[in-house]
Amino acid sequence: MIKNKDYFVITTNVDHQFQLAGFDKARLFYMQGDYGLFQCSVPCHNKTYDNKDLIFKMLKSQNFIIEKNGKIEIFGKSKWKTKIDSALIPKCPVCGREMEMNLRADDKFIQDDGWYAHVQAYQNFVDKTKGQKLVLLEIGVGYNTPAIIKYPFERMTYFNKNTNLIRINKDYAVCSDKISCKTILFNEDVFDILKSLTNAIKKS
Ligand SMILES: [Zn+2]
Repeated sequence: MIKNKDYFVITTNVDHQFQLAGFDKARLFYMQGDYGLFQCSVPCHNKTYDNKDLIFKMLKSQNFIIEKNGKIEIFGKSKWKTKIDSALIPKCPVCGREMEMNLRADDKFIQDDGWYAHVQAYQNFVDKTKGQKLVLLEIGVGYNTPAIIKYPFERMTYFNKNTNLIRINKDYAVCSDKISCKTILFNEDVFDILKSLTNAIKKS
């Protein structure tokens, strides 16, 4: 749907799915962290580490997965081990304490240089698109942390003449009267909406 567009993704999801789905990491801002990154649990230093290789080693040691001809296969449940080898427990390369996921779960969350680079990339995109035709596609954003996506999107829609908002939200498909003429609301299933929009774009 957006592969030929100049786009940017801001997400509060931490499940790494945008990268798994092939989105360009340079056009992503995962501001609440990412399961794909480790950080020191203390934390003793301000750096995150890609954890894919180590996670795959753990999964292999537990018989969860096997790699055949470069493809990952999932083993039958009966063969799973619930523990990993203790040698695979990730340790901080600086202080030796255990590592943990880089998630904004408490005050130990690390915002490293990479995180700030993505903040800047997002800000640059927002600045660059001011005055230009822009669609804000807001998918499933609730009221847990509305100050990150929901409220800024509403402000941008209100203040920028050429900005429109598409809000897909099963529970809260509503918006303020001030932006209702520039907003399209959906409360149907996200998958169905995106599929329909993609088909409509293909036909146009
Ligand atoms: Zn450490």
